[in-house]
Amino acid sequence: MAEAVVLRRPGRPVAVEPVALAEPRAGEVRVRMAAAGVCHSDLLLAEGKLGEARWPIVLGHEGAGVVEALGPDVTGIEAGQRVVLCMIPSCGACRPCREGRRTLCEPVATASLAGTLLDGSTRLRGSDGEPLQHGLLLACLASDTVVPAASAIPVPDTVPLWQAALLGCAAVTGFGAVAGAGVRTGQSVAVIGCGGVGLQVIAAARLAGAAPIIVLDRQAAKRELALARGASHFLAVGDHGASDADGLGSLQAQVAQIVGGGVEHCFEVVGAAATIRLAFALLRGGGRATVVGLAGRGVEVSLPAIEFLSEKTLAGCYYGSGDARGSLERLLALTVDDRLALEQVVSHFIALEDSSVNGAFARLRAGEGARTVVLIDEQLAGRSL
Ligand SMILES: [Zn+2]
Ligand SMILES: [Zn+2]
Repeated sequence: MAEAVVLRRPGRPVAVEPVALAEPRAGEVRVRMAAAGVCHSDLLLAEGKLGEARWPIVLGHEGAGVVEALGPDVTGIEAGQRVVLCMIPSCGACRPCREGRRTLCEPVATASLAGTLLDGSTRLRGSDGEPLQHGLLLACLASDTVVPAASAIPVPDTVPLWQAALLGCAAVTGFGAVAGAGVRTGQSVAVIGCGGVGLQVIAAARLAGAAPIIVLDRQAAKRELALARGASHFLAVGDHGASDADGLGSLQAQVAQIVGGGVEHCFEVVGAAATIRLAFALLRGGGRATVVGLAGRGVEVSLPAIEFLSEKTLAGCYYGSGDARGSLERLLALTVDDRLALEQVVSHFIALEDSSVNGAFARLRAGEGARTVVLIDEQLAGRSL
């Protein structure tokens, strides 16, 4: 029996439950988990905002561990290999893959939405024998999991697994968004939302040579963290700051004081209508807003359409866009000399326990703290609580 964070009903607390994990099939590996991050997308799933029929499900899609067993015909990886998990094991053959949009891989999207592995079935059952869904193919808020072999990316021995875990969603998403937007040296950037992914966007913008980097968040307490991560300016957004015309105008004026005319790039890392509108409003003519934050189903945004006349772009982004496996490998190379300073972005280390995991969800709901990392096996993770 493994142990896993199971969501039985949306809107209810999650629980750490014993689960039965079947052996890996062809093209799959079993991984003993070391550490996993708690991401805002897990919260949206747990609140039922990503669609119906997505439960019961084992959550978790940002993690690292050690390969324990290989399914038949798996080559290129061995038992004992330390790995970070990638939630898009793209097929390389479908149309989006062939066009270079590998994060939109069709077979992966189908399995992800259905809560299965790539062959359309599950390896997970509850103690009552009921089938459980796999959260985003990884289901890694668990002691052990079975994932596609292509999701397991080798981690150099010098990188602790608790750090590698953070690359799997937050860093690959944040760095991919900045690379995909084409941020160049000396360009102005605004980042709305200073959570787990937002902090990676800030670091990526700094490494890309952006200046100024203006960070906006509703928690004034995030100022120090944002500045440490590379922000040049921090603006606290009041509770209604982005949701009415006065608030919007005041934030526009504050940004204009720093960089007249607005910014060249804006990254929305919240996933809400008001902040997507704000991202568009903060752009100068010709600027590009990238929506990185995941909004729940049914959220709609209205924009002043006349501003498209000033050649503004509003772009979407999923898991950093492009080739996630390639990005993860490049990020691992940056981690070796601590250029990603991953220690900075974790506000809480917790154990795999009901109350701790629900506490992490409560912080995400309130917009408090940075990343929470679950140390599933402290020794493997390379860090103690
Ligand atoms: Zn995530
Ligand atoms: Zn594909």
